[in-house]
Amino acid sequence: MTVLARTIDVTRRYGEVTALDGVSVEIRQGELVGLLGPNGAGKSTLINLFVGLRRPTSGTVELFGGSPSDPVVRRSIGVTPQETGLPESLKVGEIVDFVSAHFPDRASKDELLERFGITDLVKRQVGGLSGGQKRRVAVALAFAGNPKMVFLDEPTTGLDVEARRALWDGINAFHAGGGTVLLTSHYLEEIEALAQRVVVVGHGRVLADDTVRAIRDMVGVRRVSLVASSLPSLPAVLSSRFEDGRYELVTGDSDQLVVELVRSGVPFSGLEIRPTSLEEAFLALTSKEGTHV
Ligand code: ADP
Repeated sequence: MTVLARTIDVTRRYGEVTALDGVSVEIRQGELVGLLGPNGAGKSTLINLFVGLRRPTSGTVELFGGSPSDPVVRRSIGVTPQETGLPESLKVGEIVDFVSAHFPDRASKDELLERFGITDLVKRQVGGLSGGQKRRVAVALAFAGNPKMVFLDEPTTGLDVEARRALWDGINAFHAGGGTVLLTSHYLEEIEALAQRVVVVGHGRVLADDTVRAIRDMVGVRRVSLVASSLPSLPAVLSSRFEDGRYELVTGDSDQLVVELVRSGVPFSGLEIRPTSLEEAFLALTSKEGTHV
């Protein structure tokens, strides 16, 4: 598959701070990739390098086989940065026209407004919009030039559930039409709902780069739930909670836990074993940083 965006051994420093440290990532055509990591991990820096807002201290950044600093290359991408300052006095419709005018290939305005659920806002001045409404406009603008690829830095921050779902639909529609997406998010359910591939970043390094499922499996943490009146200490248990007559256990090895449980001779019933959410997997990955590099 064609690689649309790539970093090769990229390091970016801000003075003493190393925001990215030897990062090599590839985004291929048609992929929807989630960039996941705690605050300060280097996600925005990586996005800014891809879209040409920053340059690497060392290493190479490629966009469509060229340089992100080339305006011709940048015409094929759409961007929603983490903070967007839209001109307050302009109406939403005017801003869409203004941004679209910069691109040779333009999305249909009506379709764009419809796709991101902002048709009703077209005559409203940006200054009078709520934070969530501004965010929706800012994300829609990333798609105004019919881009081949979009970079979305925390696209749904500050949105309520309904607005978030509307944006997910818009992003999914773009992806279904062959578009390529790199997005960062703090909402882990968002990454799980949208992305097929996850790049986990911590302290400027790539900790994992795989499917959501593979990352869960890599961490291997499972939730084990059972009914018992008491439990002895079992070595395979990482953490334990007792609620409404059920034990909720977290383990790195559910097979071993069941063996230990049976051997202990304690009566139990209603055994359930579930995979963890991406959030749990992610916490385990970032807290064990160094062992997965
Ligand atoms: P994230 O998006 O994952 O929260 P960032 O890429 O914003 O992470 O930041 C990575 C690191 O680089 C952090 O330690 C942050 O403080 C630092 N950093 C980012 N931008 C700048 C800047 N313009 N000047 C100095 N330090 C910065």
